[in-house]
Amino acid sequence: MTARSVPEWIGKTPDTLAPPRVRLRVFQNAGGCCHACTRKITASDRWDCDHVVALINGGQNRESNLAPICGNCHPTKTAADVAVKSKTYHKAAKAAGVKRKRSSFQTSRDGRWKAKIGGGVVPRD
Ligand SMILES: [Zn+2]
Repeated sequence: MTARSVPEWIGKTPDTLAPPRVRLRVFQNAGGCCHACTRKITASDRWDCDHVVALINGGQNRESNLAPICGNCHPTKTAADVAVKSKTYHKAAKAAGVKRKRSSFQTSRDGRWKAKIGGGVVPRD
């Protein structure tokens, strides 16, 4: 730590948005490049502070987990984060023996009705 270093910004809550000075630091630390496509972000580009490890995947709302992302990449990154989240969840659920919610539809395996391959339902005997 030098006298010039500033303490890392840590969001008070997971929803706290990084203030402008932190956005600027995040931008400068990344060399002004989108962390997904590495494209240089210019003043006319829209960009956001992205959580490198998404909050839904256990990432923290703090400066060291933030990186600039351009408007082109952000939707893709968010979709990828959600996909990871879903995969992680199912893995963890399986490991914990948590079963997926059963369909209550009557043609489910232990229901009274059986779906026929050609369509329609018949009573299970
Ligand atoms: Zn990008």
